[in-house]
Amino acid sequence: MNFQTIFNQKFPQVEALAPGRVNLLGEHTDYNDGFVLPTAIPQQTVVQIGLSDDRMYHFYSENLDERVDMVEESFKSGEMQEEYARYIFGCIQVLKEVGYTISPINLYVKSSVPLGSGLSSSAALEVATIRGIRQLFNLPIDDVEIAQFAQKAEIQYAHVQCGIMDQMASSLADTEHMLFLDTRTLERRVLPLPEGAKIVVIDSGVPRTLAGSGYNERRAECEQAAQLLGVKALRDITDVSLVETLPEPLRRRARHVVTENNRVLEALQNVASLEQFGELMNASHASLRDDYEVSVPALDILVDILQKTPGVFGARLTGAGFGGATVALVAAGEEKNIAEKVLEQYNHAGYTGNILVGA
Ligand code: ADP
Ligand code: MG
Repeated sequence: MNFQTIFNQKFPQVEALAPGRVNLLGEHTDYNDGFVLPTAIPQQTVVQIGLSDDRMYHFYSENLDERVDMVEESFKSGEMQEEYARYIFGCIQVLKEVGYTISPINLYVKSSVPLGSGLSSSAALEVATIRGIRQLFNLPIDDVEIAQFAQKAEIQYAHVQCGIMDQMASSLADTEHMLFLDTRTLERRVLPLPEGAKIVVIDSGVPRTLAGSGYNERRAECEQAAQLLGVKALRDITDVSLVETLPEPLRRRARHVVTENNRVLEALQNVASLEQFGELMNASHASLRDDYEVSVPALDILVDILQKTPGVFGARLTGAGFGGATVALVAAGEEKNIAEKVLEQYNHAGYTGNILVGA
């Protein structure tokens, strides 16, 4: 299947790409108005777009082998059932809402970003879609605005309450650069990845069953802690000794957030070597495990194997926790070797992991 056969149109007028992402440092900080440090992964989403020759929008996802043909009215009346079309049509809608004219299109999407694995296939889909539409209709929007429109589409039309990290990372970072983002002010810096290092991402194979409830509980605890400390958000605390007055478990939850924000700033300012950057990642994992309590035995085992493997500078769980994936910073050129060796040991311990980045 390709654009031509699906839409019976000679060729797409534009093609646009956007990558998935992984967060290197700054976990559970975004809803505390804090700092994050994601980078793009090599996997990308590709969209091809041509003008529709009827008044319908036509979408096709190669990953899902699903075709959607719709008029604008059917979306508005909530008739559209296909979940993924909400992301695409949501992007179109938010652009229309600010006054751009987007005539009906044929849009073909294919992606090497795994769907629903925490590597942000949703943001990649949105950013690629808006990039393609920007090109086709010559829209005067910049890359930051693309991220903002993309986030809005995901919240309002896919009904996912997401922050802006994923869309910003997909729009502004690439595999050689990471994005420092202040989630309160949106102040940001695009920085080169630590020289001589590459990223390895391994999925633990443990489904994130408790992620939803655990996540909401942590958010509530952080709000409570901020209130008791008399600040708007935990991001306003920089001196970690201030959390000592809090009752447990708020003390440890707040300590994670404060130290994690400090680790992101430290990575920007004071890191002279790959080893130092890696140590910040290791400390992040310990903090997520002991203070924030969002790790599970499988993630601890996988991180432990990674940290003990020569050529690995640092490793930690990434994403919300309670299962999901790990990210490691490893010596460039060694990533495949290291990922395979680690996976073998991890699987030997009775788990079924999966290399997502680095194979
Ligand atoms: P993640 O962003 O971590 O991959 P999400 O649950 O946020 O996980 O987003 C996954 C959803 O995004 C999919 O269920 C699907 O609706 C949509 N999606 C992303 N990429 C594609 C694609 N290539 N084709 C169709 N739908 C996609
Ligand atoms: Mg997502």
